[in-house]
Amino acid sequence: MKDFFKGVRKHIDRLDASHLREQYKLVADELASTDMFLHALKEGLVRLDADGRVLQSNPAAKRLLGAEPADALSDLGLPLGKSSSREIEISYPEDRILEVQTIPFGSETIVYLRDITAEKKRTEEQLRAGATKAVCDLAAGIAHEIGNPLNAIALSLQLVKRDPTDTEAIDTGLAQLKRLDGIIRDFLTAIRPRQPNLMPGSVADPLKNCLAMLKQQFEERRITVTLDVPAALPNVALDAEQMEQVFFNLLKNSLEAMADGGTIVLALGSDDRNVFLSIRDSGRGMDAEQLAGLFEPYRTTKEKGTGLGLMISKRIVTEHGGSIAAESTPGEGTTFTLTLPRLEQRIRALK
Ligand code: ADP
Ligand code: MG
Repeated sequence: MKDFFKGVRKHIDRLDASHLREQYKLVADELASTDMFLHALKEGLVRLDADGRVLQSNPAAKRLLGAEPADALSDLGLPLGKSSSREIEISYPEDRILEVQTIPFGSETIVYLRDITAEKKRTEEQLRAGATKAVCDLAAGIAHEIGNPLNAIALSLQLVKRDPTDTEAIDTGLAQLKRLDGIIRDFLTAIRPRQPNLMPGSVADPLKNCLAMLKQQFEERRITVTLDVPAALPNVALDAEQMEQVFFNLLKNSLEAMADGGTIVLALGSDDRNVFLSIRDSGRGMDAEQLAGLFEPYRTTKEKGTGLGLMISKRIVTEHGGSIAAESTPGEGTTFTLTLPRLEQRIRALK
């Protein structure tokens, strides 16, 4: 088509009326087929000029938007002359979700509209199916987990029945009961999460509580813990009890990753938007494969592990509007980094 126009333009002065008529017919046919092509598309296409005015659009654009593109698009504040992608919800003439892309086109902008309602629904169904599967996995896991302590308790009771003064058997039984209690509590937290009760506070407080709780265990294992709290640490919105549980899970993992002494370095910091906590241990570390599914339930390398600690921790942090990440080198150690939005930042985001 381009070559055709070039050719015509070059020779236009020399073309006579009948030639021109012939060429005009060719152009008209070409335009008609382009128009048909645009009409047949089920995706919407709209051309905007440099000021955002609609130059051209196909019928699908109007059908998808449920209104004239000029009216419907002006409310969206689309970036002109830039590539962008967003999803919008339309309620008229029916509920649907559209993907809206802008594509720069010379001084103009092409808007490309696609109905992704069905795709979205499929993803949601997959997510729901995934959640059901996670609960089934958890239930199967716990059925498996409680077998060992139950057997051990039965054995201890038999020993006590034979010799009621066997305090060692009583202690074993009690220890196993405690373990059972821990497994069930982890399981319940995993399937019945409590909404966090968010209050303004410093991350350092639950962290210090947790360190005090684990102090003895650190000493027994000859682990040195250092904590660096900056003078002015911004507050975050936190559920101190749940955050303590997160720190407990992470510190306990670090502790369990160090067989024979080591160090844990805790560092707190902040920028304009977030408060950070990094927990670096000199434990055995993890390889890429272990890191990949790290926060999924029932992934444990420990004989007495539940594989729920990190899953629960991640969920709590996510519910606080934050995120958690891990990096590790086998044989050198692991660093977990928690990011929590600063209080002012979060209030702004919720508005
Ligand atoms: P559990 O501690 O019951 O195994 P978690 O969810 O807390 O379950 O941890 C899952 C697995 O991730 C652990 O079994 C361990 O293999 C690995 N892991 C977690 N934290 C660390 C760490 N700091 N150093 C090395 N490995 C870790
Ligand atoms: Mg753990």
